[in-house]
Amino acid sequence: MITIRLQVGPLATNAYLLRDDDSRAGAVIDPGGEGDRIVERCRTEGLQPRLIINTHGHIDHIGANAALKEAFPRAALCISAADAGRLANAAEDLSALFGGSAGVPAADRLLEDGEELRFGSIVLTVLATPGHTPGGVCLLAGSEAPPQLFCGDLVFRGGVGRTDLPGGSWAQLAASIRRKVLTLSDETVLWPGHGEETTVGEERLHNPYLQTDDLPEP
Ligand SMILES: [Zn+2]
Repeated sequence: MITIRLQVGPLATNAYLLRDDDSRAGAVIDPGGEGDRIVERCRTEGLQPRLIINTHGHIDHIGANAALKEAFPRAALCISAADAGRLANAAEDLSALFGGSAGVPAADRLLEDGEELRFGSIVLTVLATPGHTPGGVCLLAGSEAPPQLFCGDLVFRGGVGRTDLPGGSWAQLAASIRRKVLTLSDETVLWPGHGEETTVGEERLHNPYLQTDDLPEP
């Protein structure tokens, strides 16, 4: 699997383009903005998106859903049920901060914890990781070597997602990191929603928010 990271929009959100080498089937995770640029990159890479996946419903992660659906109408737009309502809610998806509704299409598929998403020979396992939003999910490519986790705004290199936005919960975020991230092998690569990639081992050792057993409030 090839992973391409594009930083898009005013908050430099990481949009990820994943491509199965054999079939060229692909997935786009968090097309947060600059839809034309994401679509163009898919085309230059010969990537045919089967899935458009939102790790959560904030505008900086969903802003180019419409552009992707228009360019690749057969790709299934996926988000958890708990965050799907945010797609059409200008207040909750924070688009009001950016001058209006995102105008995004409705979800085609509602994600549940533990389900598997496939494109080509690649399998992504959905991990429900509430905390930053109630319906936040991570996507685990567990058969890659090393495994790859696309973790949205749950955890970053040296940081964690904010929990002061509507629906946020520090207790849930801490539990999600403890149960779904720190249980992965140290070599697992973390691809966050903002900033550079890291690994579980790096964050286990150096992330100041993950240094104690009870993950205290930052
Ligand atoms: Zn967010």
